[in-house]
Amino acid sequence: MTRAKRHTPVLRSFAARLIAWQRSHGRHDLPWQRTRDAYRIWLSEIMLQQTQVATVIPYYERLVATFPDVRTLAAAPLDRVLEHWSGLGYYRRAHHLHAAAKAIVEHHGGAFPRDTQTIATLPGIGRSTAAAIAAFAFGARGAILDGNVRRLLARHRGIAGYPGETKVEQALWKEAEGLLPRRDIEAYTQALMDLGATVCTRAAPRCFECPVAGDCIARREGRIAELPSPRPTKMLPQRAVRVLLIERAGAILFEKRPAAGIWAGLWSLPEVAVDDDVPRRCKARFATDIVVGEALAPIEHGFTHFRLTIHPQRVGVRKWPARAEAPGLLWLTREDALAAALPAPIKALIRRL
Ligand code: SF4
Repeated sequence: MTRAKRHTPVLRSFAARLIAWQRSHGRHDLPWQRTRDAYRIWLSEIMLQQTQVATVIPYYERLVATFPDVRTLAAAPLDRVLEHWSGLGYYRRAHHLHAAAKAIVEHHGGAFPRDTQTIATLPGIGRSTAAAIAAFAFGARGAILDGNVRRLLARHRGIAGYPGETKVEQALWKEAEGLLPRRDIEAYTQALMDLGATVCTRAAPRCFECPVAGDCIARREGRIAELPSPRPTKMLPQRAVRVLLIERAGAILFEKRPAAGIWAGLWSLPEVAVDDDVPRRCKARFATDIVVGEALAPIEHGFTHFRLTIHPQRVGVRKWPARAEAPGLLWLTREDALAAALPAPIKALIRRL
């Protein structure tokens, strides 16, 4: 009698397991999944960068209702696009969206390009986003590597090092390309996104639900908490600014931010240096006498490269000289301000008034 052979279970390919998992456990009814329209898929991919699905859905639906196609978006004033983006954060995305819509109309006759390399030349679209759009809209085979996928692959393949470093990023791209299936690219791409967002989460990943747990290196070696390696710590510079809540007849004065730099093109409160003499600055800037009011609690806000402490200062005005009116200034009631394109911390401040 022959002895029974001991079998090591043979795992199906990484892609096959992901595709099967996506079919039964992935997300299927997100608003941008019910279309092959590259324009809508592009909008959703840009909005989903750095923002969670549940937050994006109402913004996406409003944006699509107002700008149903690329030509409407390209023809709209930037301010209107920013209004729709207000509260979603990372406003550069909205500037890029608008610029890319114009480029599609001007250089591609209003038709969304089909080729991944061409898509990647549009403002605000990197290699990963271009591949995702091409996969969902045209079924094109290409690797994606957004933040969630980096984490998933760093853990599953046991790749140490900060993924923002070129060498580590290249290693992750190589893995991402090597794992691509020949078919079902759409389901596979969606599976990577879903698994990264819902199972292989940053904190407390749900490995017991993971279809690729059987050969996950981080799990086998007890390195889940240390992968991917965090960004090497560096102290962010701290800056401070005073913002003026200039109020008159039930309205607040807003000033248009410059077209470049932080909060570009948004409406915000006039700013002065923290140690500025506020009455003198207002006299010089608006030719008016003001009454300095209450200083409100400071607000802390983090940017990628620095931290900002915002000191709000209430200011009253009795008379507003006509010559202080200018195209970059706008009086808004609290309600109108809450509907306008304001930076998130300024909107939060107005909401608390
Ligand atoms: S087993 Fe856990 S750590 Fe590994 S890929 Fe799956 S969810 Fe992520």
